[in-house]
Amino acid sequence: MSRFFSEKYSSLVPYTPGEQPQDKKYVKLNTNESPFPVSQAVAKAVEAEAGKLQLYSDPECVQLRKEAAAVFGINDDEIIMTNGSDEVLNFAFMAFADEKNPLRFADITYGFYTVFAELNHIPYKEIPLREDFTIDLNDYLAVNETVVIANPNAPTGLELPLGAIEEIVKSNPDNVVIVDEAYIDFGGQSAVPLTKKYDNLLVTGTFSKSRSMAGARLGFGIGNPKLIADLNTVKYSTNPYNVNRLTAVAGIAALRDNDYYMNNCKIIQQNRARTTAELESLGFTVLPSKTNFVFAKSDKVSGEKLYLALKEKGILIRHFTKERICDYNRITIGTAEQMEIFVSAVKEIVG
Ligand code: PMP
Repeated sequence: MSRFFSEKYSSLVPYTPGEQPQDKKYVKLNTNESPFPVSQAVAKAVEAEAGKLQLYSDPECVQLRKEAAAVFGINDDEIIMTNGSDEVLNFAFMAFADEKNPLRFADITYGFYTVFAELNHIPYKEIPLREDFTIDLNDYLAVNETVVIANPNAPTGLELPLGAIEEIVKSNPDNVVIVDEAYIDFGGQSAVPLTKKYDNLLVTGTFSKSRSMAGARLGFGIGNPKLIADLNTVKYSTNPYNVNRLTAVAGIAALRDNDYYMNNCKIIQQNRARTTAELESLGFTVLPSKTNFVFAKSDKVSGEKLYLALKEKGILIRHFTKERICDYNRITIGTAEQMEIFVSAVKEIVG
């Protein structure tokens, strides 16, 4: 730390992204990226746009919002586009949480929530999930706090049924409920239709997982036009050109190729079912996942040992050191070939 670093950030513990080692070629199952490339139309659109990079991007993302609105069944004033969904989450924390409206989220969930809360000096409560990592609905009913729920949750992969989400939204009418749907396209039921009914529901999503665009950084928030206007106030006070030209055209082309991406999500779900069955036959406990990853533990080998042994064999998975989940690992679901390599390596290790 330099002697100039502001005191207001000096105790900040930044988010640790999944490792991206460059020493050799790994089978990468550690950051929940898609194993599939973008569609050809997306690649072409990006190439064609390169000649326009001397010009600023459209801060309103007019075309992108229009096409996204059509795909998600909403109006274009009900959506904001951002630099990954991390950015819309940060904007939402800034816009809708403060001392009087503290944040409430699970103890085992997306690690960035605590970081954004700390960054913005917003008080927060981490509510322990039940022993089986499910949410106790009572912890979120009529709490008068700004609730954040990753649904399906990460790193557990578990989904909270839509009916429970609606109860939480309904019982906290004077606070915004943020539902982070980064993994919704892998079998979950989206809360987006509920945004028509409740003015306090913000749903966030991303093109990073189901639409193969993690490297392009494109996320979005969907909610009542007034919520979106507030998020735009924060955006225009932070970074009006938050979605760059290449990403905007890539996003438009991806939305036009929606069938290709949704079919990829089906393949991931099939590979997930096969991987789950294989791991279970090797004695693993695997939580029922609605995402593009599984959360699994073995009685035969510790979470850390398995992670290290797989790394040795050129396979990366995500290990967490937090006490409650250190026996588990999060394994991104890749192609059938990648999962075969993974399963045979696991067999060698636990066999
Ligand atoms: N929410 C959850 C639950 C995630 O796991 C991630 C991915 N790290 C994000 C949001 C943010 O993803 P992105 O910024 O790439 O859209």
